[in-house]
Amino acid sequence: MSPSVRTRPEASGRALSEAYDTALLDLDGVVYAGGSAIAHAVESLERAREGGMRLAYVTNNALRTPDAVAGHLTELGIPTEAGEVITSAQAVARLISEQVPEGARVLVIGGEGLRVALRERGLVPVESADDDPAAVVQGFGGPDLPWGRFAEASYAVARGVPWFASNTDLTIPSGRGIAPGNGAAVEVVRIATGAEPQVAGKPLPPMHRETILRTGAERPLVVGDRLDTDIEGAFNGGVDSLLVLTGVTDGAQLLAAPPQHRPTYVDADLRGMLTGQPEVTADGDGFRCGGWTATADGAVGEDEGGRERGRLRLDGDGEVLDGLRALCAAAWTSAGEGSCGLDAGKALARLGL
Ligand SMILES: [Mg+2]
Repeated sequence: MSPSVRTRPEASGRALSEAYDTALLDLDGVVYAGGSAIAHAVESLERAREGGMRLAYVTNNALRTPDAVAGHLTELGIPTEAGEVITSAQAVARLISEQVPEGARVLVIGGEGLRVALRERGLVPVESADDDPAAVVQGFGGPDLPWGRFAEASYAVARGVPWFASNTDLTIPSGRGIAPGNGAAVEVVRIATGAEPQVAGKPLPPMHRETILRTGAERPLVVGDRLDTDIEGAFNGGVDSLLVLTGVTDGAQLLAAPPQHRPTYVDADLRGMLTGQPEVTADGDGFRCGGWTATADGAVGEDEGGRERGRLRLDGDGEVLDGLRALCAAAWTSAGEGSCGLDAGKALARLGL
């Protein structure tokens, strides 16, 4: 086993749903996309739960309340209680409550999820910079958030009122394309004030702490589709992770991942929770998984721009995901603490990725 491919012996050969006690699942790109369930999600989650694994849903989106998210999941065929949903609104509300007096007023730029989370911590949501707030908080407000709300936040932040953000995801996927996310809204206030908010959401520790406090997970497995939120959040929390390829990450991005973006496991979709994840073994010939052998080839070739560049090679045959696992081991070992710059185009094309 290569030292740069993270594995845990307790999971070798066993289904992940048995090796870990709680799945901390991202939603968009993992469980659903554009409001509909992702293929194999409903039945995979049902089987994982039947096998004794606890399921919790962890979202950076602060717009909806846990009740509303649980209702949506239940409608999709995944029976869920509000207590099984953890949002960045809850994480930022706890962070604020640790820094302001009990019952303090908080200027809210965002949606109902944020207001409910603040009340849960005994804080009082207010709407104007003139309401003497002890803190300002920004969370995703959806398409109907008026522009004037950013002015309200800016007036208070410019006076020195502490500023918080539920998360800083710059974009948010919608059924019609990619829309500006809360991170873009935070930039608006940053440009107007020059100030810097405290942020709670993935990949930062307040969100991970909120998740562990609410689930009591002892052997958690983070399941996500984004390297810079889900997987980096797991890395920062010292927790194992499963990347699924049903969302925003493709094979090339995965191979180029720096250490904090490298998942413990990778699979096509949530069926990966129900199986043992195969080991990658290293020998003098390269990195083997299933019928594949991957090598970091120092022999130079040319990339699309005609520049000379080393290559990742893939030989053999077998399951697509085994080929990707072998390539990850070769790429990450070759890159060490950096990001793999080898050309993986041909190797990924062999896998249809
Ligand atoms: Mg996602």
